[in-house]
Amino acid sequence: MAWLEVLEAYAAASLNDAVHLLNRRFPEILWEGDPASDQVALTFDDGPHPRDTPALLEVLAKHSVPATFSWLGERVEAHPELVGAAARAGHQLMIHGYRHRSFLLEPQGSLRTMLDRTRDLLAHHSGRDPSSITYVRPPFGHFSASILRGLCAWGYQPVLCSIMPVHWMLPAEVSVRHAVAQIEGGSLVVLHESLAGSPVAKLTDAILTRLAGRGLTFVSLDTLRAGRDAAKTP
Ligand SMILES: [Zn+2]
Repeated sequence: MAWLEVLEAYAAASLNDAVHLLNRRFPEILWEGDPASDQVALTFDDGPHPRDTPALLEVLAKHSVPATFSWLGERVEAHPELVGAAARAGHQLMIHGYRHRSFLLEPQGSLRTMLDRTRDLLAHHSGRDPSSITYVRPPFGHFSASILRGLCAWGYQPVLCSIMPVHWMLPAEVSVRHAVAQIEGGSLVVLHESLAGSPVAKLTDAILTRLAGRGLTFVSLDTLRAGRDAAKTP
């Protein structure tokens, strides 16, 4: 079917060239790690979710892989126990927003209040210090120069990604194949919880199984950023 071919072509196109350009244009955003390293960060947007999060925690434990969960404040309020479970398993936590709405539609004052509220919810339910929760990935990747300035001024670190399998639009097998072909040292990968279609935990299990033996090291976002910064230092 033609639409499937278009989606496949779009999903298969490497984002690498675009990411290198964007890195130079917006250096305050974390797009990827050090491409010369073997480090890969797996991140999951849009949770916590009562079906997906526990299943993902099981898959990540099975593969001994640390990940970073990018969550929404209102979903944390609905499922606070999942924050503790992810934190006890040693995964990093970050902010996707309070609700799933473009930051371009939020007045700056209320955006800051919502981010702080989400950070405090994550800190409270994980038992971690609020100052350890600084990464923010804007919903839909929407940002502006003034939003970036605001995030940095409020002590947040903006994050996007270098690999985003569109697994809610494609058959699971195609998404797995694309992800496995695209992931390499330095990749910052985002997958999504809370979506219809093939469960993200099953997809993650298939991706990690096929990447085993490639010599990649899965790391938290903190470690990926530290690797990138060390590579930048002359
Ligand atoms: Zn999202």
